[in-house]
Amino acid sequence: MDPIITRFPPSPTGYLHVGGARTALFNWLYARNKGGKFILRIEDTDLERSTQESVDAILQSLEWLEIDWDEGPFFQSKRFDIYRDYIRKLVENGHAYYCTCTPDEIEAMRQKAMSMGGKPKYDGRCREKNMKETPNAVVRLKAPLTGATVLPDMVKGNIVFQNTELDDFIIMRSDGTPTYNLAVAIDDITMGVNTILRGDDHVNNTPKQMLIYKALNQELPRYGHVPMVLGSDRTRLSKRHGAMSVTEYREMGYLPDAVINYLVRLGWSFGDQEFFTRKELIQKFNIENIGRSAGVFDVNKLLSLNGDHIQAADPGALVPHLLPFLEKQGVYPAPKEDLPAIIRTLNQRSKTLIEMAEGALFYFKDEITYDEKAVQKFFSAEFVEILRPLTDRIEALGDFSEKNLENPFKEMMEMTGVKFGKIAQPVRVALTGGTVSPGIFEMIAALGKEKTVKRLRQAEALMLKGK
Ligand code: GLU
Ligand code: ZN
Repeated sequence: MDPIITRFPPSPTGYLHVGGARTALFNWLYARNKGGKFILRIEDTDLERSTQESVDAILQSLEWLEIDWDEGPFFQSKRFDIYRDYIRKLVENGHAYYCTCTPDEIEAMRQKAMSMGGKPKYDGRCREKNMKETPNAVVRLKAPLTGATVLPDMVKGNIVFQNTELDDFIIMRSDGTPTYNLAVAIDDITMGVNTILRGDDHVNNTPKQMLIYKALNQELPRYGHVPMVLGSDRTRLSKRHGAMSVTEYREMGYLPDAVINYLVRLGWSFGDQEFFTRKELIQKFNIENIGRSAGVFDVNKLLSLNGDHIQAADPGALVPHLLPFLEKQGVYPAPKEDLPAIIRTLNQRSKTLIEMAEGALFYFKDEITYDEKAVQKFFSAEFVEILRPLTDRIEALGDFSEKNLENPFKEMMEMTGVKFGKIAQPVRVALTGGTVSPGIFEMIAALGKEKTVKRLRQAEALMLKGK
């Protein structure tokens, strides 16, 4: 079989929304699974509504999701000559014709069709006139008058369109620009696209595109129309349901791997598996398992999956994802900071990168902000008798590993008979300012000797001063 060639053709009239991202993903995963090609095409023929800003936003979102493309981005607005050539070809081979009917005439035809109980349609009156190109003429495709066009959909099964429902639709407007379906079909043909996965809001365009293929004697691609994503109230997902743009999820501290995992599962399944790495998705993705019923977007599921991905990720790999969130908090870690070690103390307890950045703040601060109540409760002059020798022992450690850090605490417990919790809690307040933190040993190891000792000595001074 020929190599699989898929495409993602967004219209740049806004940000990349989660539904569009899912379509991109399905096509990308399928191409990657099959060792094929994934093409990016910008459908900007609507010059009024298309903006460079949207193009940039879409490209950035795809890059963030790490959905890479093998060809493109191609811009439809730069391909008008190609469409013109094909339109001319269709007229020459008798599959399309010029029509000079006025808007009033068209309106009258539609009224007439409706008064006879039919759909509003063009009646084909220019079909056999064999007119030459004239200014302001449109070009229409000769649609078959009888029979049916059958779309063998990979997701939905056969979908049958009665040809009597189709009229001779316009493929070139009177200003010489191609219509949407013409441009899409010509692009897919000339780019060699053989597999098209897209939202089922496009089902009704498909027979028109198929007729263009037929008129040009081209082999049809394989189509799969995927049910639209729904909101919690089972209406089509929209802004009412919350954050819709991929960028918003990046800003809320989601990992791209979690977002793609979640989006793929909204319409595709593999047994009852919920968690997939990117690699696994590429290995396992197939068209057979795309569901026939619509997925419901549930931001809480996405959040919990994000937590799972944060937990499962290599802490080192999380560093570049976390840094922007630290920077937003005004923290620019020095190169000597052991960020993977810091992340390791937080990755079991953070659902988002924002949470993780907030949890990490105390590692970097020069000035600890103490929680008043905690200080009242845990800082006492008597504790200095434990804290000072403990700090000395910690300072003397050569090996500052989590394991070895247990020893100074054990020694102090043995020497004084004070229980671990009673020692650890004031230490925790001294190091973090509060009573909630990662595990004490892993936290101290990640904080490093210099900061640990400095903070413990500072707390000691406070204790002596009487808070
Ligand atoms: N440009 C269309 C859209 O953004 C996609 C067309 C297609 O997949 O054929 O909805
Ligand atoms: Zn006409």
